[in-house]
Amino acid sequence: MYLKSLTLKGFKSFASATTLQLEPGITCIVGPNGSGKSNVVDALAWVMGEQGAKSLRGGKMEDVIFAGTSGRPPLGRAEVVLTIDNSDGALPIEYSEVTITRTMFRSGGSEYAINGNSCRLLDVQELLSDSGIGREMHVIVGQGQLDTILHATPEDRRGFIEEAAGVLKHRKRKEKALRKLDSTEGNLTRLNDLLVEIR
Ligand code: ATP
Repeated sequence: MYLKSLTLKGFKSFASATTLQLEPGITCIVGPNGSGKSNVVDALAWVMGEQGAKSLRGGKMEDVIFAGTSGRPPLGRAEVVLTIDNSDGALPIEYSEVTITRTMFRSGGSEYAINGNSCRLLDVQELLSDSGIGREMHVIVGQGQLDTILHATPEDRRGFIEEAAGVLKHRKRKEKALRKLDSTEGNLTRLNDLLVEIR
């Protein structure tokens, strides 16, 4: 599995559609300060479902939408398309190429699609979680983030390892299942109360 291409359209400083073709192995992005190198990394995290505006170096989520320049008006939507080569079947989906699209409108809300079919954020997260690219995006190490990991508490460090090992997905599913069990038990108690009243 490797990242094949990334297209940014209306995302941060990339007003016009811009596609980066990537090859297996190491890719370096070079450019002057402020030219948008980190914005490319932000786009990668964003399309994979990043939910925190701060992680994307913004104040609010809509800061990812091109805000305009002196010569160009702001845009109403941001879109990022990530194409992943899945010929080794690392992602649990029967396609040798997987395309993830995330679109956001200034009016709010994000839309996701996998291979052109609209889906939920959860579907994107589940698709990627077994590949080690989880919700918290520990595979993307930003400037200054190494310090955070080195100074993390043992509990937080365990969280990073669980995330990378794909345990977190099962923990979340367990929590969801326990919540369902809880509400079912509540319903049963109510039902019993009703039965007692009827009798
Ligand atoms: P450095 O080498 O200094 O880390 P960089 O190449 O990583 O820089 P970025 O931080 O990716 O640069 O890009 C910063 C630029 O992106 C700034 O000029 C900023 O104005 C622009 N930018 C960020 N968000 C938006 C937005 N929503 N709309 C338009 N431009 C934006």
